[in-house]
Amino acid sequence: MNEADSDEMFLHLSARGAVRTDNLDEADAVLINTCTVRDHAEHRALSFLGRLCKWKRQNPKRIIIFAGCAAERLGKQLKKRYPYLNILSGAKSIEQFDQTLAKSGLFSPAGQPAAQQTGLFAYVTIMRGCNFNCTYCIVPSVRGPIKCLPAADILADAARKVKAGAKEIMLLGQTVNAYQDGSTTFADLLNRVSDIPGVERVRFTSPHPIYFTPQFLAAVKDNPKIAHHVHLPVQSGSTKVLQEMKRGYTREIFLEKVHALQTAGFEISTDIIVGFPTETEDDFALTLSLVDEAKFIAAYCFKYSPRQGTPAAQLKLHDEQTLEDRLDILLNKVKDLAETAYQRQVGTTQQVLMEEPHKGKSSTNFWVQTGLDFRPGSVVSCKIEKAEGTLLFARNEHD
Ligand code: SAM
Ligand code: SF4
Repeated sequence: MNEADSDEMFLHLSARGAVRTDNLDEADAVLINTCTVRDHAEHRALSFLGRLCKWKRQNPKRIIIFAGCAAERLGKQLKKRYPYLNILSGAKSIEQFDQTLAKSGLFSPAGQPAAQQTGLFAYVTIMRGCNFNCTYCIVPSVRGPIKCLPAADILADAARKVKAGAKEIMLLGQTVNAYQDGSTTFADLLNRVSDIPGVERVRFTSPHPIYFTPQFLAAVKDNPKIAHHVHLPVQSGSTKVLQEMKRGYTREIFLEKVHALQTAGFEISTDIIVGFPTETEDDFALTLSLVDEAKFIAAYCFKYSPRQGTPAAQLKLHDEQTLEDRLDILLNKVKDLAETAYQRQVGTTQQVLMEEPHKGKSSTNFWVQTGLDFRPGSVVSCKIEKAEGTLLFARNEHD
């Protein structure tokens, strides 16, 4: 999501003549777009900002822009701590970034933004903010409540990106499947994006389990352009912890949703938090057993990080050793998920979007090596012959 926001901010900079560089020495301006979901992310952004002091001293005309969620959370105190910071632009004001640049007086007046260039993949933001209040999460306070973008704007944005070369569109939002614009539901939007000429595949992230209904599945499961992979964060396998996190579902409901998705041909990956303050050894054991039951293809695992102002931050923390131990045990369990999932694909037929002449990604998000060369951007039907580690090998006609 931050990458998509960074691209959007860059368009406003490009309208003022900016071009991108990865080389700090030749840059006139630096845009730091930050995350504050965990303390570590915020810390990295701040330590980079600290290191820029020397860069700025070498040429005081250089410009530093600090944007995004950490900018929103820390606000004006940053200007006191880092007086060389020029522009502060919090996550809630991303839509006003153009005005923020104009008001700063540091850039020339805006002209036309540079022509958008995309590779085979492009992000399209469909909603901002979040209406949930998961007790560990800082997102609602730094991003504000849900705002769904108009469907017509989303379709126009996707069409523009397809014209610029994209074949796969990733729709983005914190609870992306809660999307609604008038009578347009999330399923309608997915189907309409997939109908744009030139779109080969549509993905989305992050959905919330409670919005996966049988009606949703019925509306999308037979559309071959909608990727059959869903990243569905569970956070914990214990119903008690899920309630304390205010996730809005139980272990059983989550597993029901997963099985319904899997029956409809979708593969699932997830996010898990270990060491939530009230998580006991028994709760943690339930998370481990859920990983076995759910047959995820991947799981991203995080140590609980207290975020100031969230309800869970009031609770007594586990000691660091307990967090480390639980994370190690979980990581050890999830490390083989991908390889096991790859083995399960042998004998199946997969639709592969080619990224290189002989390698691409299946709709279910597995890497596939083809027997013949194909044009990048084309979709090829592949019969999977074998799996080695995290690569599937396909036999294609004339092989
Ligand atoms: N909206 C998505 C959902 O409801 O699952 C998740 C968005 S959150 C920005 C991305 C991931 O960060 C979450 O799935 C969660 O696992 C993790 N996360 C959020 N807050 C956290 C915290 N305080 N400590 C550790 N991990 C956290
Ligand atoms: Fe955070 Fe996701 Fe919960 Fe919203 S739904 S509060 S973004 S974890």
